[in-house]
Amino acid sequence: MGSNDLPDGAVKCLDKGFVRLVDSMGSDAAIVQAARVSYGKGTTKVSRDRALIRYLMRHHHSTPFEMVELKFHAKMPIFVARQWVRHRTANINEYSLRYSEAVDDFYIPRPEDVHFQSKWNKQGRETVTVPAELKAKTVAYFKEMSQRSYELYTELNEAGIARELARAVLPVNLYTQWYWKNDLHNTFHFLRLRMDDHAQYEIRVYATAMAEMVKRVVPIAYEAFEDYLLNGMFFSRIDREIFRKKLPERVKEDLLDDVTYQLVAGLHANKPQDENELYKLYQKEGGQDSEADFAIKWAARDNAEGNVFEMRELKEKLYKLGSEFN
Ligand SMILES: Cc1cc2nc3c(=O)[nH]c(=O)nc-3n(C[C@H](O)[C@H](O)[C@H](O)COP(=O)(O)OP(=O)(O)OC[C@H]3O[C@@H](n4cnc5c(N)ncnc54)[C@H](O)[C@@H]3O)c2cc1C
Repeated sequence: MGSNDLPDGAVKCLDKGFVRLVDSMGSDAAIVQAARVSYGKGTTKVSRDRALIRYLMRHHHSTPFEMVELKFHAKMPIFVARQWVRHRTANINEYSLRYSEAVDDFYIPRPEDVHFQSKWNKQGRETVTVPAELKAKTVAYFKEMSQRSYELYTELNEAGIARELARAVLPVNLYTQWYWKNDLHNTFHFLRLRMDDHAQYEIRVYATAMAEMVKRVVPIAYEAFEDYLLNGMFFSRIDREIFRKKLPERVKEDLLDDVTYQLVAGLHANKPQDENELYKLYQKEGGQDSEADFAIKWAARDNAEGNVFEMRELKEKLYKLGSEFN
């Protein structure tokens, strides 16, 4: 510890930290392999594997994702480690200040990362610009306090005071290091919470770097994670009531109609059907347009060929929002 040289494969984080993926076990294939124990062998075509992984993610069938393991080596300020360590399912081994001497490695924020306390979010920072002098003063205080505490620590250390006690004079912007191993399901959970805008900037930097590393190990699972967990949305009962009551009938009808078109387009692409069969397919899926209107829309081809299963699920959800959505 102490050197600012980056170990192999590490991504620099903050002023003196880093994170690197040291080892991993499994890939997208391991997720599919485990899932097929419960769903049967089926085909091994890549497109089917992708659909299966996406299905598992959408339906929170999480255990197949636990078959993949990821081991990271990270160097971060202690106050970042304190947030990180709350993720209880990980296996951790940290640099010990009882055995080893602390190194003069302190996090000093960049002036552009110094913000006012948010008025709305008690745990956040305000976007209003802090005057340059106050930024400079904040950075200077970080430097002064780090330097002074390290001098005191060194003095106690040299006087023979036990390292396990002397370390207590050091502040939480001191850098520490650890190896952190977790399975993919819980790593995704960590990434979702710590890449979020509500997470502290300093931990977001690490989570964002780790996400790129995870993506390289499990590209298909990562894509599903991005689609359903990271950028997915959950609606509460209150949200749903508002949608149900406030959305004009016309909007509800348009939404359902659009989903029906996407569904027919998906079915058409999945198993190509003759043009004259499409209207029947459309009616079977609940489409209300006349054959002439359907033909005009179909010819305009403003429909995407989405995932059929997903479209069916979306349609079910729309119906579920209230029977009056029908
Ligand atoms: C923006 C933000 C603000 C936060 N603010 C605070 C704060 O002010 N104070 C504070 O103390 N913490 C705070 N936290 C930490 C937070 O409360 C969680 O401790 C942390 O995010 C870990 O989440 P977790 O428990 O879901 O994850 P993990 O510990 O990684 O666990 C993953 C999942 O495993 C399951 N699990 C793990 N262990 C157990 C168990 N023993 N029993 C049952 N189920 C278990 C749970 O389903 C859990 O969701 C904050 C976190 C965030 C992201």
